Amino acid sequence: MKKDVIIIGGGPTGSSLAINLAREGLDVQILEKAKFPREHVGESMLPYCYHIFEELGVLDKMKQNFSRKPGVTFSNPDGSQASHWCFDKVVDGPSSLSFHARRSEFDQMMLDHARSEGVDAQEEMQVMDVDLNAPGGGVLVKALHQGNKEVEISGRFLVDATGQDCFLSRKLGNQKRFETLNIRLALSAHWTDVKLTPSLANGNITIVHIGGEKSGWIWLIPLNDDRLSIGLAINMDYAQEQRKSLMKEHGVRNWQKELYLQEINNAPLVKEIIQNGSMAWEVVSNGDFSYYAEAKFGPNHAILGDAAAFLDPIFSSGIFLGMHSSKTIAPGIVAMLQKGDPSLIESGYKSLEGGYRVIEELISAFYDPEAINFPELSVSDGMDFNQMESAYTVYHMLLAGDFFNDSERYLKAISALRDSSMIEKYKNLKGHADEDSKKLVCAINPILA
Ligand SMILES: Cc1cc2nc3c(=O)[nH]c(=O)nc-3n(C[C@H](O)[C@H](O)[C@H](O)COP(=O)(O)OP(=O)(O)OC[C@H]3O[C@@H](n4cnc5c(N)ncnc54)[C@H](O)[C@@H]3O)c2cc1C
Repeated sequence: MKKDVIIIGGGPTGSSLAINLAREGLDVQILEKAKFPREHVGESMLPYCYHIFEELGVLDKMKQNFSRKPGVTFSNPDGSQASHWCFDKVVDGPSSLSFHARRSEFDQMMLDHARSEGVDAQEEMQVMDVDLNAPGGGVLVKALHQGNKEVEISGRFLVDATGQDCFLSRKLGNQKRFETLNIRLALSAHWTDVKLTPSLANGNITIVHIGGEKSGWIWLIPLNDDRLSIGLAINMDYAQEQRKSLMKEHGVRNWQKELYLQEINNAPLVKEIIQNGSMAWEVVSNGDFSYYAEAKFGPNHAILGDAAAFLDPIFSSGIFLGMHSSKTIAPGIVAMLQKGDPSLIESGYKSLEGGYRVIEELISAFYDPEAINFPELSVSDGMDFNQMESAYTVYHMLLAGDFFNDSERYLKAISALRDSSMIEKYKNLKGHADEDSKKLVCAINPILA
């Protein structure tokens, strides 16, 4: 029997879309190549995910199972300069307290929740090919079950939510690069027995900014079970030079692990945190990020989440973008299937464009050596937080995930704040990190937790 919608990929984009569609009475099939639980990068979530979790019906499970995230700390490598951005300064109510989640558990929980909403989700089902002009109309999907059994499934509509595999845009040859963003390599692992800083112990993600030719950053994400996720994102050219040197001159075989350990130990703040720690798994690599699919939909298909576009993960935006896009495009898929009306899909994708542009600009500002340096925002004296806040509310709101509400205004504000005269004016403001910024932690209201 023909499925209404076949979704390739059971990550957060695929499972949240499936829930939205199943609730509209559609017969939804997810095909996921992995056997869950499986690990995945991308563990820190924006406050703007909160209400989506509520609507999807998983908020209580999020509260029961995952650690809470009250804000973001940007630090320089030795921790002497840091700025703390607490979401409760700009987001009212309980959604100011966000989440960090180990992805093996989070993605499994989401997929199981989709099943409980009536979605047929099959794991170990790798899609190998699709025919978007199948005989009799609709789409025909060819998949391999458990690596050996060929299966064919037909449907009326296909969604590619395959993450960075970008199944459909690669097949259709319409993948493009974001011209303004550089290629980076990310290397990451989980650690145990670490010594947390006060802001990590309180739940803030910490981003250590690394300038110069490395042009990158280190993330530290406090997860449950005393695990700390530590990742390095670094300029690909620098990584390739290091690869050659480590392999040829030093005879290192596992150059990625060596580079990872070298760079995180080069940041005194991180070195101190991991001095007695142990790595809980081998280093994982992710590369080549920042691309988009030029054509994201057609009469019987749509591309969503990382498969549609991926922006450098510095601002932890990926999961929110995937789930927000699913929520935005679901009504269009329903209208297409029920009335043959493409207008809602078109307007849905149009409404997403501004938000993606805002994030692209924000990322460029982060890496621009002439623009604002987030760790520096806490040092020196001058105005107090309230004055600083009006200038930087823009960044604060964006760090919380407010990409889509007034994107034109944000784009103007980001470009004004990148202007050198504005930087001179505001660069030495005191953030709400008080005199001793290292001691500052964001407030966690126990009632909200
Ligand atoms: C280094 C790095 C750090 C990141 N940090 C963050 C962060 O802190 N916060 C955040 O929000 N985001 C972060 N992200 C982004 C985040 O990981 C993604 O945005 C998010 O996982 C996207 O969800 P998705 O469902 O679109 O794709 P995915 O989560 O990748 O899911 C896609 C699924 O499709 C399946 N699949 C692929 N091909 C096939 C096929 N042919 N057949 C069947 N199944 C298939 C895969 O197995 C996978 O389960 C980070 C990304 C990177 C690279």
